[in-house]
Amino acid sequence: MADYDVDLFVIGGGSGGVRAARIAAGHGAKVMVAEEYRMGGTCVIRGCVPKKLFVIGSHVHQEIEDAAGFGWTIPQVSFDWPTLVANKDKEIARLEAAYTTNVEKSGAHIAKTRAVFEDAHTLRLATGETVKANYVLIATGGAPNHGPEIPGIEHVISSNEAFHLAELPRRIVIQGGGYIALEFAGIFAGFGSDVTVIYRGDNILRGFDEDVREHVRSEMEKRGITILTGCTVTKVDRHGKEFTTHLSNGSSLASEKVMFAIGRHPNVANLGLEKAGVAINPNNGGIAVDAWSKSSVSNIYAIGDVTHRHNLTPVAIREGHAFADTVFGKRPVQVDHSNIPTAVFSQPEVGMVGLTEAEARAQFSHVDIYKTSFRPIKATMSGRDTRVLMKLVVDGVSDRVLGCHIVGDCAAETIQAVAIAVKMKATKADFDATFALHPTAAEELVTMRTPTVRYVRQAAVAP
Ligand code: FAD
Repeated sequence: MADYDVDLFVIGGGSGGVRAARIAAGHGAKVMVAEEYRMGGTCVIRGCVPKKLFVIGSHVHQEIEDAAGFGWTIPQVSFDWPTLVANKDKEIARLEAAYTTNVEKSGAHIAKTRAVFEDAHTLRLATGETVKANYVLIATGGAPNHGPEIPGIEHVISSNEAFHLAELPRRIVIQGGGYIALEFAGIFAGFGSDVTVIYRGDNILRGFDEDVREHVRSEMEKRGITILTGCTVTKVDRHGKEFTTHLSNGSSLASEKVMFAIGRHPNVANLGLEKAGVAINPNNGGIAVDAWSKSSVSNIYAIGDVTHRHNLTPVAIREGHAFADTVFGKRPVQVDHSNIPTAVFSQPEVGMVGLTEAEARAQFSHVDIYKTSFRPIKATMSGRDTRVLMKLVVDGVSDRVLGCHIVGDCAAETIQAVAIAVKMKATKADFDATFALHPTAAEELVTMRTPTVRYVRQAAVAP
């Protein structure tokens, strides 16, 4: 230690970096965290939290529409975007302060500055100071992709700017078919914007179960969102406060905002990684790490989005915690990345854990599918044209539930509980032995008796 200023230097005060710093400090390490923007990182400042607040706010519109069937007369409603943004900013500032206090309380020191490598043990701060560290944790997260340099790209916003718009756009074009694009499509549509989603593939939500992809698309279209697939944005022209978005299919669209949500890349640029000898994973562009989150340099670790493994807050947190326990807590922990539950806070919401039908069929010889689509009880009175989707993917040999997919209100809340059962390797018989809770939508998960389809892959027979 004598040669080092700190035991651990954490680059990045986001979800993963903060957890690692606090736990390492708790284990008695001398820790410094550098954060160049705001403590809390993407999730707290411009990701999960403000996004969820916007989703909740925009969903009120649907509640108001549905109220009439239950006898409510709501004479006049109005919505004020600046109030929403200001209240959201207040809450984010509160959380940022809480993150700062919690790190300081743990005994770690925060440096509000950018930090880059000089060599494997030396960090240079933007203030000009250098700090020598025994271990370094890279937790710099990721940033939105801008895509190819199309003409007019400077007019396009990302999710970062979407949280701070001065006005609610009357019309918005959103390019992207992943969760961030669809969540913002639902947010803007809920607040009354006319929304068009542009996606280059044949359907939105690539990587999700095919039934989920179709169901979400049809439900979003029913709610008035236009989804154009098989095309891309080729050019954006500006005319004062309006834009014309040109598409690869030859058509064009007018709007007040154009947003791209076409993926995110790990923040590895200009970090001085080459000076430290840290290797990049050629498959995903993130920092290459082993199962302990150790990089190609023995005293440097990387966790969270900068490794581009599973870009989710709880994953970054768990990886940060495991790193700190392993290196400073004398308790080696490897993160098990299987069965990570995921939600898309689109409207309607998606919740999923485990394998999709296609993944299960590729990995297992016998796969049973249990699927139901039904009108939720609320819709019977509200008159809303909507259906819930629930699907279980089961190993036909062991009866183990391999995957669960839900589209509908509270899908994310439901899937969090189902994830425990899936992680515990529950069987379909365990689901069936569980009492239904009536009347709920989730009771369908324990009352689907007959498979909708059974797949059996025949073993290859020698000629
Ligand atoms: P981050 O939280 O990104 O933190 C990295 C920090 O490092 C940043 O604060 C950055 O300023 C700082 N930094 C970078 N370089 C330097 C440097 N050289 N020096 C000093 N500081 C530096 N995940 C979910 O689980 N659920 C969701 O609902 C969800 N919604 C999302 C919605 C949006 C719009 C976005 C963009 C993301 C969302 N995510 C969600 C993903 C989630 O935010 C990330 O997975 C998570 O924040 C990753 O944590 P991290 O610690 O790896 O990085």
